[in-house]
Amino acid sequence: MAETIYPRMAVIGCGLIGSSVIRAARAAGVVGEVFVADASAKARTEIVELGYADQVFADPADAVAGADLVVFAVPVLAMEAAANAAARAIKPGATVTDVGSVKASVGEALSGALPDSVFIVPGHPIAGTEQSGPAAGFAELFHQRWVILTPQPREDEAYLEAVQRLADFWRALGANVERMDDKHHDLVLAVTSHLPHLIAYNIVGTAADLEEVTRTEVMKYSAGGFRDFTRIAASDPTMWRDIFLANKDAVLEILGRFTEDLQALSRAIRWGEGDKLFELFSRTREIRRGVIAAGQESPEPNFGRDRDKH
Ligand code: NAP
Repeated sequence: MAETIYPRMAVIGCGLIGSSVIRAARAAGVVGEVFVADASAKARTEIVELGYADQVFADPADAVAGADLVVFAVPVLAMEAAANAAARAIKPGATVTDVGSVKASVGEALSGALPDSVFIVPGHPIAGTEQSGPAAGFAELFHQRWVILTPQPREDEAYLEAVQRLADFWRALGANVERMDDKHHDLVLAVTSHLPHLIAYNIVGTAADLEEVTRTEVMKYSAGGFRDFTRIAASDPTMWRDIFLANKDAVLEILGRFTEDLQALSRAIRWGEGDKLFELFSRTREIRRGVIAAGQESPEPNFGRDRDKH
């Protein structure tokens, strides 16, 4: 069992990700007390029943008082309100992080809301499922997954130490840690996560609106490819609305490129240019092999299958 890294951790927003952080940190033995705040009365009741927090509050200020690490795990557009609510009670010298899927705007929201006396180190675990709520979390969610930290451009020793300690914390939870510029993070995630989700939402919406093909046929023959899109398109509507609004510029830039490439594919199909199609499909097959070689397709059938997102 590892040594305690943070004697007291506060988690604000305790759904899938917040509760997984608590379970993983408890399993690794790197936190002492855990205080939680959640806006949802239903979630608070569930957290008490699950029994993994020492105290559960409605007001973020009550949970963060005295905490050495504060983790904001609310939807991206709720970060600012949660940070404002917590600001007056956060202990000077505490490390403050988040798990939001967009980094530049969340970093700005946290710095705008919180006092200069805390160390803000935004973060994003690239792991998740399409489930929500405290009961959906599990301790292994971050095993062998990447956590991207987007530290502020500060060079003082105390800040660098806080970044290092947070990286050690995530590694103790089983994750690999990378540091990245926040705007670059948002562009990378627009390609690897946000655009794929937008495509899934769109294709499932298109199928639902078709008049010539019945809904029963769509369900019945879904193993042809559609089924995999329906899993992604079942992801939490609040979370994904927030991601697209908070990462508007990067998503629109990547969407522009995607639309041009789609037009080129459409032309190749129209003019019977099979060699162009074959060349693209061969290249994309190599990318799939690269994903497997990078260990990002888990062999475990149960929790591995659905946890590679966002
Ligand atoms: P979730 O399961 O829906 O949990 C979020 C919880 O935060 C809910 O109980 C929600 O209550 C509560 N909340 C909302 N606003 C709040 C506020 N101002 N103060 C306190 N609590 C508040 O969400 P999640 O899937 O864990 O996602 C949390 C964050 O992780 C998001 O920023 C998301 O981008 C990021 N993330 C998610 C995944 C994923 O796969 N899910 C992966 C990586 C990162 P209400 O239900 O009443 O709003």
